[in-house]
Amino acid sequence: MKLFDVYPLFDIVPVKAEGSYIWDEKGVKYLDLYGGHAVISVGHSHPYYVKKITDQLNKIGFYSNSVKIPMQEELAQKLGELSGYTDYNLFLCNSGAEANENALKVASFHNGRKKIISFSKSFHGRTSLAVAATDDASIVAPVNQTDNIIFLPFNDEQALEAVMQQYEVCAVIVEGIQGVGGVMIPTTSFLQKIKQVCEKAGALLILDEVQSGYGRSGKFFAHQYAGIQPDIITIAKGMGNGFPVAGVLIHPSIKAKHSMLGTTFGGNYLACAAAIAVLDIIKKENLIDNALKIGTYFMEKLKGIDGIKEIRGLGLMIGVELDQPCADIRKQLLTEYKMFLGSSSNKNTIRILPALTLTKEEADLFLQAFGKVLAERLVK
Ligand code: PMP
Repeated sequence: MKLFDVYPLFDIVPVKAEGSYIWDEKGVKYLDLYGGHAVISVGHSHPYYVKKITDQLNKIGFYSNSVKIPMQEELAQKLGELSGYTDYNLFLCNSGAEANENALKVASFHNGRKKIISFSKSFHGRTSLAVAATDDASIVAPVNQTDNIIFLPFNDEQALEAVMQQYEVCAVIVEGIQGVGGVMIPTTSFLQKIKQVCEKAGALLILDEVQSGYGRSGKFFAHQYAGIQPDIITIAKGMGNGFPVAGVLIHPSIKAKHSMLGTTFGGNYLACAAAIAVLDIIKKENLIDNALKIGTYFMEKLKGIDGIKEIRGLGLMIGVELDQPCADIRKQLLTEYKMFLGSSSNKNTIRILPALTLTKEEADLFLQAFGKVLAERLVK
């Protein structure tokens, strides 16, 4: 059997990782400023994280959600405390798409409505409704197409108000910071407007914090910069530092019913061990503060580099837009300077999504290399 060939691959075979570094099978060391797509939050192979999962595996690795798993409650309690959402309820699942799929279902179960508002350049996952709410026709199969999704221009308050009056809207889904779309930040005023019109219309506000959450932005959730409280929040990527785990945070006014949602693997012992370890490390090592401090430093220094059109970001979720496609530049940084970086649907934007443990020295390594690579191109 061969693999279903859906991923364009770099010719690199990582075999070891530690902190912000990866080593390939030939012993070459890479600086990881991509975090496997914003997944590595507490750093690769953090000893506390490795021990928690290993110890758990030596006790019990899996049983289904038909028995009590107290670690799920420990996870919910610690997540509530660190995020500030102590009174919300948590549904555990396995991926970002699944979290959004369930969030949309919960909203529709709750108010009985169907119309979902999503925004230009959004990405919410690849399962049926999540992909329908994603602004990329190329990944939506005919069977996923639905009239229930309305796309509106991002950050356009007037368009939103007009559509809210026209339809009985079930929910509005928006990313805390658009990731795949190229690090596009919703304005405070836009998020506050969404909250206000949703409240007025009985629609639910779903904040997709799959990529921008878990401290990456310098606050636990990026939407907390706008001082709003969504009805539902989805989380994944940084939550398990690579172990597949995701969640839906649900406002207490939305009531659960048995069998309303479910999953075989969601909230299993190993996922809980990984997710609890991540929260313990974020708290103990003050990683949210570090993300803010290093991210601010990073963006300040980027301003001094010639050849950059725009820098967008909060904390360690940074987009650097050039006035040229960045594929070759990313490739050069990887092959010559041994640095992993992210791309985005906007071909000119590089995404920087490192571990929240990144140090100033590690940021400097990239800044020097990036300055050199761009300077070479300006001379040419
Ligand atoms: N939402 C956002 C904002 C994302 O960035 C992603 C993944 N890029 C997803 C949802 C989907 O997550 P997953 O790949 O875990 O299904």
